[in-house]
Amino acid sequence: MPDDPTASDDLFAQPPLETGAPKNAFPDSEMFAEAAYQIVHDELLLDGVARMNLATFCTTWVDDRARRLMNESIDKNIVDKDEYPQTAELERRCVRMLADLWHAPDPATTRGTSTTGSSEAAMLGGLAAKFRWRKRGGTGIPNFVCGPIQVVWEKFARYFDVDIRQVPLRGDRLTLHPDDIATHCDENTIMVVPTFGQTFTGLFEDVAGISQALDDLQARTGLDIPIHVDAASGGFLAPFAAPELVWDFRLPRVRSVNASGHKTGLAPLGAGWAIWRSADDLPEELIFDVDYLGGNMATCNLNFSRPGGQVVTSYYEFIRLGRVGYSRVQSAAYSVAQHLAAGIEKLGPFEIIHDGDPLRGIAAVSWTLPDDQPYNLYDLSDRLRTRGWLVAAYPLPADRGDETIMRALIRHGFSHDMADLLLTDIQRALAQLDTHPPTVPLDRAAAGGFTHNATPEVSTAALRHRLRA
Ligand SMILES: *Cc1c(COP(=O)(O)O)cnc(C)c1O
Repeated sequence: MPDDPTASDDLFAQPPLETGAPKNAFPDSEMFAEAAYQIVHDELLLDGVARMNLATFCTTWVDDRARRLMNESIDKNIVDKDEYPQTAELERRCVRMLADLWHAPDPATTRGTSTTGSSEAAMLGGLAAKFRWRKRGGTGIPNFVCGPIQVVWEKFARYFDVDIRQVPLRGDRLTLHPDDIATHCDENTIMVVPTFGQTFTGLFEDVAGISQALDDLQARTGLDIPIHVDAASGGFLAPFAAPELVWDFRLPRVRSVNASGHKTGLAPLGAGWAIWRSADDLPEELIFDVDYLGGNMATCNLNFSRPGGQVVTSYYEFIRLGRVGYSRVQSAAYSVAQHLAAGIEKLGPFEIIHDGDPLRGIAAVSWTLPDDQPYNLYDLSDRLRTRGWLVAAYPLPADRGDETIMRALIRHGFSHDMADLLLTDIQRALAQLDTHPPTVPLDRAAAGGFTHNATPEVSTAALRHRLRA
């Protein structure tokens, strides 16, 4: 183009930017890289600002060294253990470190793997439980027992043909209660899955209580049902901010744990972990042999090729911060969450469900709004969007499904000052909604809700029934 005297050298006067980018068919011709870059870059201006996204659990702030390591690893495939032995070695170290953090009896010999996120890790944990159940002589249709869950468990149930038994919540309870477990278990129950950091509310489920209930069940009936803890966000919080909470391998019944490195683990997007209590808890059938240099790490994944940078960066965060540093970072997040909760409570109309107490849940705040207001939380969410804040509103689970809840996740990089800016904007939004109440309050569909929860109306049991019919 520079040789063409009639052509402009201004990027925006060149054909692709002047007339529009290809959209619906694979393009015939090429364009200058700079023009293509500009088109893509500009289109993404319409995305939300990640650090103002309080709906996400995932990392939205990474330091420059982490960015550098990600960049340096961009061409390394983690599955090539032989070609990139040191990336493989860092993964093995991370597995041992997490097994140690979560009190596995022998962190040096247990098994675990990095994954793309908690979803893959949860499915691997569930598959291991299903294989162990079958090995114990299980026949019939396997099931697992849980409370209100993240959508991954609906996926696991459907993809791998396991019945999901979601315990209905009673009264004001928002978490799975130990007293309700036993009646849902039978000889085909492959595991109970407590959520350590619910997506709905941010609350921790009582893993120790559930374990005790299963001990009692075993004493009465002989049924020995293992626990898989979905610690997607709690796994990197409680060990530092509430070490006295017993939810991990200190409970012998806990056989596997999943956690998202890319949530509270502080790694960039694409990092998860599945860790088993001991090598015996991951059945051999799930392990595939790729050439590699000794050690006990399982190569057991749903994908084959995966980027290596997430593991490299995880290792960087682990050794950079250690227990002391993670404790500081997570305590700071909890302190901002508590500050935000106090501010929201002071605004008046809300009922706080989770106030950011590290003994009760993750670094988050969740609240409801009594329905005597002329607006609802979808309206508030919508108003906050005009200032760039992304704050999720969605229905509560189970028999409180007609109520709406709002939730703000407080992550590394969300400061006290940002919380104050948000509070001012919530106050401004409320004032406007009070003086100009919507004629028709928004509903979930109109608000385009962004939720990570399993939708209770899509039940796997119902689907199974439909498929069989
Ligand atoms: C986020 C989350 C998941 C899914 O994790 P990804 O890392 O996003 O795949 C599963 N369970 C819970 C409780 C979660 O919060």
